[in-house]
Amino acid sequence: MAGEPRSDCLFCKIVSGEVPATVVRESETTLAFRDINPQAPVHVLVIPKAHHADAAALAAAAPEAAADVLREAGAVAEQEKTDGTGYRIVFNTGAGAGQTVFHAHAHVLGGRGLEWPPG
Ligand code: C5P
Repeated sequence: MAGEPRSDCLFCKIVSGEVPATVVRESETTLAFRDINPQAPVHVLVIPKAHHADAAALAAAAPEAAADVLREAGAVAEQEKTDGTGYRIVFNTGAGAGQTVFHAHAHVLGGRGLEWPPG
């Protein structure tokens, strides 16, 4: 069922504590932790604690939690002091776009200049 934890989901296991992560922020509905393979000096993932496959599914099923993810992404950027250089929030959606973990997550990237368009 939408939102229920899945035993085959890596990020559900991070939420439950079964898989370790370097957590930088937590709210009632979200968890933010450092990406294990950082692509920028600041690379933090913000996820809803509830399981939804991607950002669009999250927004459709739980719009308040989707808003929480965005709010927390902004808070991460502030906490990590990306002000002045800016930051990027990325939701890879679908395997063709590079999504490898099918539990919604925002990448918060910053701390260096970011090219546009992305690869
Ligand atoms: O957008 P995508 O689905 O590819 O992002 C998944 C991200 O999860 C990757 O950037 C990967 O480095 C990260 N990851 C992590 N901790 C894990 C496994 C994957 O931070 N244990």
